[in-house]
Amino acid sequence: MKRGRAAPVRTCVGCRVRTAKSGLLRLVVVEGVIVPDPRGRLPGRGAHLHPALECLELAERRRAFPRAFRLPGPLDGGALRARLAVHAARQQDGRSESDV
Ligand SMILES: [Zn+2]
Repeated sequence: MKRGRAAPVRTCVGCRVRTAKSGLLRLVVVEGVIVPDPRGRLPGRGAHLHPALECLELAERRRAFPRAFRLPGPLDGGALRARLAVHAARQQDGRSESDV
C-alpha cells in the first residue's frame, strides 16, 4: 500500500538510513564518473547519498554504487569525494583543519 504522504523519502546508499529526499544529494554517473546532481536535472538512473564523506566511504566499501546505478563499474568517485570534502570543511565554521 502506498501512502500519500508529502515529502518523498530515499535511502542513502552509504549508511542505508531513510531520509527526506531534500536532505540527500542525488548522484548520477556520466561516463564512469559519479557526479553530484543537486538540482536533480541530469538524466539517467540516480542514487542518493547524505552529503557526508562518511557515507561516501561506506558506500564505496560496500560497493553500493555499481549496484545502485546498475552498472558493472568501476566508478570514479574522486570528484564527488572532493566536493564532499569542501562541503565538510565549510561546515567546520570556516576553519579548515587540513591534515590530509
Ligand atoms: Zn548516509
